[in-house]
Amino acid sequence: MVAPYVGMVFKSDDEAFEYYGNFARRNGFSIRKERSRLSPQLGVYKRDLVCYRSGFAPARKKLTGEHQRDRKSVRCGCDAKMYLSKEVVDGVSQWFVVQFSNVHNHELLEDEQVRLLPAYRKIHESDQERILLLSKAGFPIHRIVKVLELEKGIHGGQLSFLERDVRNFIQNRKKVVQENDALLTEKRENDILDLLEACRSSKEADPYFVYDVAVDENDKVENIAWSFGDSVHAYDMFGDVVYFDSTYRSMSYGMLFGAWLGINNHGRTLFFGCALLQDETPRSFAWTLQAFLRFMKGRYPQTIITDIDPVLREAIRSELPNTKHVISLYSVLPRTSSWFSLPLGSRFPEFKYEFEELCHLESTEEFEFRWNQMVSHFGLNSDKHIALLFSLRLCWALPYTRGCFLARMDSTSYWKPVDALMKGVIKTQSCLRGLLEQVGLLSNYKMHSHEGPQYLHLRTCLPIEEHARSILTPSAFNWIQHEMVLAMQYAATEMANGSYLVRHFKKVDGERLVIWIPEDEQIHCSCKEFESTGILCRHALRVLLLKNYFQLPNRYLLDRWRQESSLCFYSGQSNLKLKDEWYQEFNSLAETLFSEAMLTKERSDFAHREVAKELRRLISHVRDMPAVDEAVVGVTLSPTNVL
Ligand SMILES: [Zn+2]
Ligand SMILES: [Zn+2]
Repeated sequence: MVAPYVGMVFKSDDEAFEYYGNFARRNGFSIRKERSRLSPQLGVYKRDLVCYRSGFAPARKKLTGEHQRDRKSVRCGCDAKMYLSKEVVDGVSQWFVVQFSNVHNHELLEDEQVRLLPAYRKIHESDQERILLLSKAGFPIHRIVKVLELEKGIHGGQLSFLERDVRNFIQNRKKVVQENDALLTEKRENDILDLLEACRSSKEADPYFVYDVAVDENDKVENIAWSFGDSVHAYDMFGDVVYFDSTYRSMSYGMLFGAWLGINNHGRTLFFGCALLQDETPRSFAWTLQAFLRFMKGRYPQTIITDIDPVLREAIRSELPNTKHVISLYSVLPRTSSWFSLPLGSRFPEFKYEFEELCHLESTEEFEFRWNQMVSHFGLNSDKHIALLFSLRLCWALPYTRGCFLARMDSTSYWKPVDALMKGVIKTQSCLRGLLEQVGLLSNYKMHSHEGPQYLHLRTCLPIEEHARSILTPSAFNWIQHEMVLAMQYAATEMANGSYLVRHFKKVDGERLVIWIPEDEQIHCSCKEFESTGILCRHALRVLLLKNYFQLPNRYLLDRWRQESSLCFYSGQSNLKLKDEWYQEFNSLAETLFSEAMLTKERSDFAHREVAKELRRLISHVRDMPAVDEAVVGVTLSPTNVL
């Protein structure tokens, strides 16, 4: 390597610095940048590089109480240097050495020592990662250094950096992380305030918009939940089954994003509302369940579907005691591979097969018998996941959940779009206000309700098919049409007690029992398809055909699967308004009665007894009335009913 000389040319001052640095390292010293001179036309045009021991240490002011170690300065006024100057020749700038001296007033270092000069002590990126990892794992600094030496197979003190460098590096990193955390917390708090502001203005724009906030003892927002007016209205009609999704977290906010979803008459996903929760404690879950019930005017869903989560399970048990809780099999099955594939190894496929068989059994006795067999066969008696699954079996295993009303929300055709929707919501949000707006768009169910097939061809010559098509939405009609086509392949045999055995003409097993009660046109099948989906099964349809039905009984064409035109609910907002006014009137009457009756015990006993009696009478009277306005059905049927 040629020693620098006066007149030597470099393309840039960086290149000159690197060259001189390499020269210094080989010669037992290091360098630093000293002065530079700047002009508006040229930028930096002079640069002085000097030996690391050049100059003298400035006298340091010591603060009282400061525990700074006194480190002796290495500076001794050495005059070794390289001064550079920039010149622009034909528009190209070049750097020239204008002064150079390699005369030192101190000893130069051996190679072993020179690498320990601060300028040459670098912690390589891969080492940085390793150091942070070990530090996080709780290793003290001297142990970290030892580990790195061992890993590299070198003797003590041969690392390219010192213990001191490791300490400084970790401290700097910690500071950066803390600063980032503080920034994030600040952004989060601002965003939450912004979200509250957005909630307030949504409330002004939409009187049916509802939201609720939980704060901690320091008035800091813990949880927020909200629901748009459209969702509240949709819930009136389709709030029989809700799915509470608690599987997504917003990483940047460290909050759980819970969403209340449903299904409309067209089989489309409905967004009922959502919540941002600080944590997944029983308290937070209970809060969100209560908030949701308040939003929906106290109307409990018949069924709530969730992921497998014992904490959520407990919260639902206490807050929604009258709602059936179903844990989706779609959330249970994928867990089995992560829970059991490791302990079972090559036996896992056999286990999985058996497990899936069990899920679909009919009888609960058989389920429990075979479950115990399976558990001991695979030696899983003390497995905690097996214990969890068994303790929650009433919620997820079909022998127990069959017949729970799920409105077809337990199908892949429902889960796939829900999954995509949730991922989309989480991904696209850059701030919480954006999240609120996104949910607002998704909540506008009218916008989504008319997608999909609009007209379907008849596939049988049965009048009940045509009748169903005139009442049900295309999606619901599609499902029942499928059952009608299959009903043709089943044989129905009347039994002595008047019920029917229905079975496929080819298959020997899979017989179903259908009970027919002619007095009030009730039909029940042991497969419980109608109870679960609200769509009559092939077996029941087979018996209805046998009974010469040309139209389905009204009660088997559920409101929730009907076209808008055959529902009073959709005949405009007037019905909703009517319901609200009615509700208000009822409340004010009840309040008056309450305050009058509370004056004496005699009054209150009398009022209590009579109200209960009167309400019971009313309820049973109302129940006996037709479930659909005759006029509305008549009008809807007339065009298609001309025979
Ligand atoms: Zn020197
Ligand atoms: Zn059936």
